[in-house]
Amino acid sequence: MNKTTALVWHERLMWHDTGHLFGPEGQHQWFEPYPHLETVAGKRRIKNLLDASALSDSLEVLRPQAASREQIQSVHTEQHWSHIKSLSEQSRGGEGTQNSTTTPVPPGGLEIFQLAAGASIAAVDFTMQTGGAAYALSRPPGHHAESDRALGFCYFNNAAIAARHVQRKHGIERIAFVDFDVHHGNGAEEIFSNDPSVLTISIHQDRHFPVDRGAIVQATDGFKNNLNIPLPPASGTAVYQAAFERIILPALEQFKPQLIIVPCGFDASGHDPLGRMLLNSEDYRWMTARLMEAANLHCNGHIAFTHEGGYAPHLVPFLAHAVFEQLTGVESEVKDPFLKALTSPWASEILPHQEAMLKEAENSLNLLQT
Ligand SMILES: [Zn+2]
Repeated sequence: MNKTTALVWHERLMWHDTGHLFGPEGQHQWFEPYPHLETVAGKRRIKNLLDASALSDSLEVLRPQAASREQIQSVHTEQHWSHIKSLSEQSRGGEGTQNSTTTPVPPGGLEIFQLAAGASIAAVDFTMQTGGAAYALSRPPGHHAESDRALGFCYFNNAAIAARHVQRKHGIERIAFVDFDVHHGNGAEEIFSNDPSVLTISIHQDRHFPVDRGAIVQATDGFKNNLNIPLPPASGTAVYQAAFERIILPALEQFKPQLIIVPCGFDASGHDPLGRMLLNSEDYRWMTARLMEAANLHCNGHIAFTHEGGYAPHLVPFLAHAVFEQLTGVESEVKDPFLKALTSPWASEILPHQEAMLKEAENSLNLLQT
């Protein structure tokens, strides 16, 4: 068994109400309202499976405190804070934020958003203090939120707020993000774009969401302590493992972080409705193992996961359970019932167009100014 692993959990985080989808803007007429895809189901089912398998017994469950306004404004503008606050104070919540790709703010949402940021802070505090891994199983997600705007299902960037907190409270400088959510980690990229103390790495589906973001960094982009690894749709085990071995792990070796933060999305699975990738639970276990090794090698085991996407509630608990088995070093009796179905021959190959993109991303390693 590894050092104690923490699970950050608070029931109220599960009460974040995303409501219903009403169809694309201006095209509501024929769209029967449908429950929003970012629901409590997948997250609660992760906790339920951990309890059912008794893996919870191997976890230290932490109850987070709400992040303060000051902590949130360490990465977000005053205007963004005030905007979210005013939407949250409306009796029926805010009717969307800055654009139609952003989920409306539910009434009283601000308190839950502060608690979600606080969950990430609790996770980083735990790993900095103990050297054990920590996982913030929180809602709403945060990795699309930028300094001055909410985006997607995200309002405040939980992981970025936690990173700034660590730098201020624990006096460390070098933090690396490894975001393997299927969507681009644009929030951390934007927030830390001119900050040499934070390396942001995102591996994601090419030109997916946000559609105009996440391209491979070019020499003409100027200073960026950022590594984007966009992968073609239908990438699986072989492509992801190559990306880790040829790009992500060498980047961490080069940067030598004092803390690794993993914005963890389970939407790169073969069943996710919001992604087109082919990962299964063994792939998530493998990625977790490599990142833990990197954390042990470079930063005394300091690693914290923040929960981001994952929209297949039947499958997500098994993906997460594999991650938690790896984090704790405890093997349970749980077998992923979908593993066989998601073990595709396509996932074990690197096709020419995938290799071309890997190669280009690999070349961008040279641009890192670490
Ligand atoms: Zn996502």
